[in-house]
Amino acid sequence: MTDAGPTHTDMAAETLGFQTEARQLLHLMVHSLYSNREIFLRELISNASDAIDRLRFAALSDDGLLGDDPELRIRIAFDADEKTLCVADNGIGMTREEVVENLGTIARSGTAEFFGSLTGDQQKDAQLIGQFGVGFYSAFMVADEVTVLTRKAGTETGTRWSSRGEDEFTVEEAEAERGTRVVLQLKSDAHDFAEAFRLRSVVRKYSDHIAVPVVMAGEAADGDDDAAP
Ligand code: ADP
Repeated sequence: MTDAGPTHTDMAAETLGFQTEARQLLHLMVHSLYSNREIFLRELISNASDAIDRLRFAALSDDGLLGDDPELRIRIAFDADEKTLCVADNGIGMTREEVVENLGTIARSGTAEFFGSLTGDQQKDAQLIGQFGVGFYSAFMVADEVTVLTRKAGTETGTRWSSRGEDEFTVEEAEAERGTRVVLQLKSDAHDFAEAFRLRSVVRKYSDHIAVPVVMAGEAADGDDDAAP
């Protein structure tokens, strides 16, 4: 997926190691938590909704931030052939530095407490994920690879983050719309999340209490909201 060759250092792809607790969390997501995996969607929708709230707030003092894309929404798309699922928001987005910090190198505040609270009961432990703000990594319960394409509101340069949920992640400059698009390459035992019926019911369940519109893209594998990164 590293296509366009970098021409100067800012654009260069960097591979960085996950911070220790992040690594432990990822290991747990990948190897131990199997029940109730669908909650990854609750986590991604909730992050998208927060990002939209943050943009809405920032736009109160700078409405230029909304640019030509003022209708804030979360869009969910899948590609049944490629087995990808995409959760995209046109919210605040992240700079490259924020991506590196938020998705890999700064310890999340609740993580140690989270580990201390684990019970060994999968159902209960899966519920803890949301409570302790370790949400994003739950994507690795269902995905072999996660790609994030993001651009911070008010900035020109986008960033692509990708990881297979092991020890490291890669970041590089990339074209991106304002906001954040998370693309999951689904594991072979999680392909049901790229099926309209299953996905629709999970999306409905976890977007009920969300204040912003959650739109599910048309079922065409390659519609205008292509789920491929
Ligand atoms: P939490 O949301 O509980 O802080 P997460 O692991 O889910 O924990 O996310 C880590 C951080 O990454 C968030 O706090 C936020 O700063 C950033 N982030 C995640 N998803 C998005 C998104 N869709 N848009 C903007 N920032 C995001």
